Amino acid sequence: MKIDLRQIFNIVGESRNFRACIDMDVLDGIKGWSFTAPVRLSGRVSNRAGVVTLDYTAEFSLNVLCDRCLKKSVRDSVMHFSHTVIPAEAVGDSDDDDYYVRAEGQSIELNDVAVTDILLELPSKNLCREDCKGLCPVCGCDLNEGPCDCPK
Ligand SMILES: [Zn+2]
Ligand SMILES: [Zn+2]
Repeated sequence: MKIDLRQIFNIVGESRNFRACIDMDVLDGIKGWSFTAPVRLSGRVSNRAGVVTLDYTAEFSLNVLCDRCLKKSVRDSVMHFSHTVIPAEAVGDSDDDDYYVRAEGQSIELNDVAVTDILLELPSKNLCREDCKGLCPVCGCDLNEGPCDCPK
């Protein structure tokens, strides 16, 4: 969803709430992750004392495979993000891209911002639980369900 910020940039104190979804055809193109349903976004853009801020929440669930025992599970996540939005003309190449969102032509493409934010926050490791014992490298049994007879 494209959010037009012209009014927000121009009027101090202006704010707008929004709700949006990231559709499955976008999510299916993301390598390495399998979303179970469209990502739900809700938040607000506001101009406080001339500084435009984007605050939003992303809710989604993912099919994940445990890296150790390969068990499948669905993980529900709620993430909050906050960015200062600046007009693209106003900055050169800043190094603070994590924090700033650039508005090209006074608008932002919310889906792009959200997908980038979510991917940065997703863990590089997936474990079904912190102390997952994994699979026995010899017989392949799930060591969470009990020890096997293989020599250590
Ligand atoms: Zn596991
Ligand atoms: Zn074994």
